[in-house]
Amino acid sequence: MNLDTYEMYESNVRSYCRKFPTVFNTAKNAFLIDEQGKKYIDFLSGAGSLNYGHNNDAIKDRVIEYLQRDGIIHGLDMFSTAKGEFIEYLEEKILKPRGLEYKILFPGPTGTNSVEVALKLARKIKKRTNIFALMGGFHGMTLGSLSLCTERAARDAAGVPLGNVTHIPAPGMFENFDTIHYMETLLTNDHSGVDKPAALIVEAVQGEGGVNVIPSEWLKAARDFCDRHDILLILDEIQMGCARTGRFFSFERAGIVPDIVVLAKSIGGGIGMPFALTLLKPELDVFSPGEHNGTFRGFQLAMVAGKAGLEFALENNIEDETERKGAMVEAFLKETVPTLSRKLDYRGIGLIWGINFDKYPSGTAKLASRACFERGLIIELAGTDDCVLKIMPPLTIEDETLMQGLEIVKEGIASLNLD
Ligand code: PLP
Repeated sequence: MNLDTYEMYESNVRSYCRKFPTVFNTAKNAFLIDEQGKKYIDFLSGAGSLNYGHNNDAIKDRVIEYLQRDGIIHGLDMFSTAKGEFIEYLEEKILKPRGLEYKILFPGPTGTNSVEVALKLARKIKKRTNIFALMGGFHGMTLGSLSLCTERAARDAAGVPLGNVTHIPAPGMFENFDTIHYMETLLTNDHSGVDKPAALIVEAVQGEGGVNVIPSEWLKAARDFCDRHDILLILDEIQMGCARTGRFFSFERAGIVPDIVVLAKSIGGGIGMPFALTLLKPELDVFSPGEHNGTFRGFQLAMVAGKAGLEFALENNIEDETERKGAMVEAFLKETVPTLSRKLDYRGIGLIWGINFDKYPSGTAKLASRACFERGLIIELAGTDDCVLKIMPPLTIEDETLMQGLEIVKEGIASLNLD
């Protein structure tokens, strides 16, 4: 295997390829195959972009069909058949059945674009600059989104001060700490020194933050807090949306309605097409024409794949299937983790789980990830000091492959001979 081309010419900023140093060539559902023909089980899923599996035939065929009939590919934000069909399907089959009334804004095709839109919109509407964001949150790498993030290395790379955000301890970060009361005090105590925010942005499950499942009660209390103080509630569903947690939106379990929802990754059909959406309550639709813009807001192939992906999810009961497979993972972890070490713990929901190595020296989870890779499994790290091994397979993974992957996790950790 020759990695010279990459090492000579590709920027030093590359990261995933350092952890999984092989040259991938093809992929199907939950498998990646490298140039040597070695098969790897995928517990990374393109960081949440591949919920419906690599090269899912039902979705891929629709894209091929569209290409073959010379369907328009680049459409700026002009009207198009693909866009119209996508909008109608999303509204009728996903939003309305959940009692959600949103207008759809198409930002540029990445998660961070959608977050930037939500921030601009909230600040414009509320005429306030500050935003509340949770510690451990991840929202993207452009300056506005980055200012919401708390990971030090990512922030240090900004090159300018990152401001206009107040970071709030995430629920569970400190024992017996009432984060809602804390936010309340910041607003009501005239000596807090903190400006009232335009919005509070939350991931219902912090993914990059280490699989921190925010309790439903907390999400409800946050909704109530925002209502009482005239603050917009933004839910970042970029990684945890599209059924990852067992319901289409990860906030659904709390029965709340956010003011703005940001979506990307698997909304592009769950096969890896770049696409993003910002959903907003109709009364928040205050941008004047062209006030937010971008050349690649009209990537029609992602709209075709996006609609096919939603159809696939509904026709294949993806929500219930995710819950069923999630229960398999939970049962496995419950039985296995205590046999590997009494210092490990685990947490998760749906098909997103984390094994926590925080009681071991820095780098231990990384060794576990490497041991898994050597055994044919792609598995990423998350959380403070990368101490969480993150289990995030495609939702379409076959039961047998899921169990094989979990066995590799077990063997990989066991190979470290943890005390
Ligand atoms: N928000 C969340 C919750 C994410 O997980 C990510 C990416 O991992 C982003 C935003 C940024 O998305 P993108 O990398 O497409 O800009």
